[in-house]
Amino acid sequence: MVKQTDSMFAATDTSAADSAAIHKSMQGNKGKDTRPELIVRKMLREAGYPGYRLHWKKAPGKPDIAYPGRKIAIFVNGCYWHRHPGCNLAYTPKTNQYFWINKFEDTVERDKRNYQQLEEAGWKIFVIWECELGTSGEHCVIDSIINSFAAG
Ligand SMILES: [Zn+2]
Repeated sequence: MVKQTDSMFAATDTSAADSAAIHKSMQGNKGKDTRPELIVRKMLREAGYPGYRLHWKKAPGKPDIAYPGRKIAIFVNGCYWHRHPGCNLAYTPKTNQYFWINKFEDTVERDKRNYQQLEEAGWKIFVIWECELGTSGEHCVIDSIINSFAAG
């Protein structure tokens, strides 16, 4: 138990771990075919809704998964990069904090702008956080997406 806590701190306290996490997030931030996205796409296909577009450029913010006809936009957000509120994965690196906090604020602001523009254009928005996948939480989000398909 104690040992596990120690190693958790060791993993987040070194700058080597920081850069590994940053590297990982940068990759996640490229946004194409990330593992969480693949999981969501698979669940949507299995639920019988395969007709999505990926990173659809004609919608504000290029939603990760979009159903243009139904105006449904799904964002699969990495917790670290998109700052999932209250999530353990959304920690701040110990080094260059000023730089990272600014960068994170930019990302969060951009997300907000995109969601707002989508809403104004009549889109329905769903945000799925990476940490929700692989737990029972995923089903709630997917269920509400599927419900909105059923609603029209
Ligand atoms: Zn999270």
